[in-house]
Amino acid sequence: MTASKILLLIIDGVGDRPCECLGGKTPLQAAKIPNLDKLASEGICGIMDPISAGIRAGSDTSHLSLLGYPPQKYYTGRGPLEAAGCGIKMLPGMIGFRANYATIDDKGIITDRRAGRISDTTEITAAVKNGVDLSKYGVEIEFAPGTGHRAALALKGKGLSAAVSTNDPKKTGAAQKTIIAEDSSAEAEFTAKVCNEFTRQAEEILKNHPVNLKRAKEGKLPANAVLIRGAGEMGIYEPFEEKHELSGSVVAAAALISGIGTSVGLEKIPVLPTTPLEEQVKLVIGELAKKDFVLFNIKNADEYGHDGKAEAKKDFLEKIDAAILPFFGIDGLLIAVCGDHSTPCTIKEHSADPVPLILHGDGVRTDGVSAYDEISCAKGAMCRICGGSLMPIMLDLIDKTHKYGA
Ligand code: ZN
Ligand code: ZN
Repeated sequence: MTASKILLLIIDGVGDRPCECLGGKTPLQAAKIPNLDKLASEGICGIMDPISAGIRAGSDTSHLSLLGYPPQKYYTGRGPLEAAGCGIKMLPGMIGFRANYATIDDKGIITDRRAGRISDTTEITAAVKNGVDLSKYGVEIEFAPGTGHRAALALKGKGLSAAVSTNDPKKTGAAQKTIIAEDSSAEAEFTAKVCNEFTRQAEEILKNHPVNLKRAKEGKLPANAVLIRGAGEMGIYEPFEEKHELSGSVVAAAALISGIGTSVGLEKIPVLPTTPLEEQVKLVIGELAKKDFVLFNIKNADEYGHDGKAEAKKDFLEKIDAAILPFFGIDGLLIAVCGDHSTPCTIKEHSADPVPLILHGDGVRTDGVSAYDEISCAKGAMCRICGGSLMPIMLDLIDKTHKYGA
């Protein structure tokens, strides 16, 4: 029998390097992960350069690559993908930004870049979206809340450019920056003017908004400024279903990843960073009953890597291992397990170290690898592949590839 459906399980930032506190092992090597090890022993293993050898992949460029959209051709910046993940319908040509609420004092100095970690910005975001008027520039805005203090902005109109800077000084105690054009085009000048007008009007609306007055009364910091960054023009993505002949969904707590999914035409199944892994797994199984392909991204391992917390990363990998047990019972499923990049605790940043990969399902050749980690998988029969080969290999294993030649 051949598998007919694909689960692409991406453990964000899973790859690592030897950690002193783990006796020279990587978190994956040190973790007790019997279910992942079982997948490795029953499947075929290898290591993978998400984009190509020596390239330090971002989560965004890597996911595009793994989904079969070479980032060199498709990637136009983080902003539009994040905006799509926050639920904004991004059309080609729209300019998307990442945004977050901040606190400024009456002189315009930033006193907190996360607005006292405000947790619900639904109401103030709606107030800004409905209140900011850029019609004299012929520009419409979309503004949507993200998780916590985060949000996303999109501009729609003629003569816009993504070549604009940020108003974020990236530190507290500094004044907001004026957004400027980053090239000499009239479009960039115009867009910078529009962006500065947006932040000015947003501050006017936020200054006396009831939510902020209430926060002040409670001794909390007001969310009275909006910082925007990561401008990018929404690109054109050939729909996933046409490109790969598979219907699909995305289950990802990170807006950036669900935004990549919706940008290529996958259906977004909403989950929050706080949604228990077991619940997320249930949602994935529900989608696999209806669709041919599910992208399931599990976030936090990357964060432990960025924080340099090897023990915590190891513990979290054990939690993931326990949560994925129900995937074993699904007939006709090809499971791919990998990371989108390595995030070694030793450098607290993404690295170009290849990530360990398993392909598990009916008809897949097996090899002698019996553990899921960076070192064991390197001995597997898949050897070392590039992320751009993953979709073609998976499609071949479910009999969906077309013959090249006669
Ligand atoms: Zn990542
Ligand atoms: Zn990261």
